[in-house]
Amino acid sequence: MPPTAHEDPQPNLTDAQREAFRQNESDFAELEKQTLSVREAASTRLRDADWDPGGNSGNSPCFLCWCADYLGDGGLCEREFCRHQLTRHG
Ligand SMILES: [Zn+2]
Ligand SMILES: [Zn+2]
Repeated sequence: MPPTAHEDPQPNLTDAQREAFRQNESDFAELEKQTLSVREAASTRLRDADWDPGGNSGNSPCFLCWCADYLGDGGLCEREFCRHQLTRHG
């Protein structure tokens, strides 16, 4: 049985390592915020251009092309004309 994350022994972190983890956490939180605002802006831009990016339909339409729903589970959309990342889909 592989150990679960819960069972991982806590290493003795140096102050520098703790600080690095702390800063990473705050940087990733910032990235998350930026991603959200970029996605919101992308969605608004499409609506302004009379293109309905969906959202409430349960689909995950692409922000970068006319793909109406993300296809596949590999991180890249499997539609021939799309091939954009899941994160580029709504
Ligand atoms: Zn797609
Ligand atoms: Zn696409």
